[in-house]
Amino acid sequence: MILLDCDLTQLRALAQETGQLAFRGDQLYRGLLAGLHVEEISTLPKAWAMQLRARCDADQGVTIERDWKSDKDGSRKFLYRLYDGNLIEGVWMPHAYGNTLCVSTQVGCRMNCAFCASGLDGLVRNLSAGEILGQIVAVNRDTRAQGLSPIDRVVLMGSGEPLDNYEQVTRFLTLAADPDGLGLSRRNVTLSTCGLADGIRRLADDGYTPTLTISLHASDDASRRKIMPIARKYSIAQVLDACKYYFDKTGRRIGFEYTVIDGVNASAAHAERLARLLRGMACHVNLIGLNVVAERDLRAAHARAIRVFEQRLSALGISCTVRRSMGSDIQGACGQLRRAHIAAQTERVES
Ligand code: SAH
Repeated sequence: MILLDCDLTQLRALAQETGQLAFRGDQLYRGLLAGLHVEEISTLPKAWAMQLRARCDADQGVTIERDWKSDKDGSRKFLYRLYDGNLIEGVWMPHAYGNTLCVSTQVGCRMNCAFCASGLDGLVRNLSAGEILGQIVAVNRDTRAQGLSPIDRVVLMGSGEPLDNYEQVTRFLTLAADPDGLGLSRRNVTLSTCGLADGIRRLADDGYTPTLTISLHASDDASRRKIMPIARKYSIAQVLDACKYYFDKTGRRIGFEYTVIDGVNASAAHAERLARLLRGMACHVNLIGLNVVAERDLRAAHARAIRVFEQRLSALGISCTVRRSMGSDIQGACGQLRRAHIAAQTERVES
């Protein structure tokens, strides 16, 4: 068990079970969310901190292993170590409207999209809710020490498919929104999915209302199947039906991500088909330049081609923007950094 997996009620109960008064649970909760290890929480009795340490797998669950700062845009890439030695990664992005953290939801990923580094080795394991929350907590501690303001937007766009880890991701959504905890506004948490239609409906049915964005990346099923194996399970029509269901239940506008890949989905015909698909939906399209992954044989579309694509979509009445790419000099694309680090470790061991 990781202490950060627990909510306040559970920590109060834990305090009482271990011979303390319930308010120790409150002190523990505050300390953990400030990124402190149990021994560092000065309000706690030392003996109890040691008892907690012995009782759980970890208190924080993730620790920052290394970080890199982009010279281009001030974004930072973090490599985190989990208590069992696994590595995950994330990107912190400063914006005029607040600081955003891109978090991972799984170690690896089983979706195996053709452009993405996260799926190259398949799924290793799911992250627990506390390990997802722990990424925010660890970065807040680090940036606070530098006088920077805490994260107020979170995007579940790191490694992993959030809806393939439904239980822990929804528990994370609840923990992150806790007004006694980080108190992140639900609107400021974006869940990005490759389009698990059943999971999208389940989110709406269960009353979760993160901002939803769909990694669409194609305007027809045949093209989508070439780059996203999940397209064999759910057609675009099924994904869009689930999006309409989500919108009807939550009133939240849906985002669509569309990575523009030369020779795959960048043509005028694709833009026109995409506009037809999305016409009349309350949505916004984010066009993304492909971050080329060495192991994957795909070419990025030229910046000019992406702008033309954007203009075409806009002219056809679809709200759309080109996503400003951050961290391209620090291996910002999903899964790249973890793989590079593991490879470097292996080389060191072998040489
Ligand atoms: N599994 C979720 C979230 C992780 S991927 C999803 O599919 O949405 C987050 C976003 O980054 C997705 O839109 C994904 O398609 C995109 N992405 C992954 N690798 C990329 C790359 N090399 N270049 C550009 N975008 C990439």
